[in-house]
Amino acid sequence: MREVCYCGRSGDAEDREPVWAEDNRQALRCPGCGYLDYLPQLEEGSRRLVFSESEKRHLARLEEAMRPGGRKEEVA
Ligand SMILES: [Zn+2]
Repeated sequence: MREVCYCGRSGDAEDREPVWAEDNRQALRCPGCGYLDYLPQLEEGSRRLVFSESEKRHLARLEEAMRPGGRKEEVA
């Protein structure tokens, strides 16, 4: 799912950082400007899918960064 942020950053919504905001709601934080997107336009089910995918990618990025000599991820 491609999205464009207010700051002009574009890319997969799932590539943004998953965070828990107030109200125990999940949001995706833009790595460019820190904007929190609650994905209000999505239905509950698809929102959950986007969040779980973004968590997966987030963890994969962390593991990638921890691994010595691992390849650098290209930032879109
Ligand atoms: Zn942004």
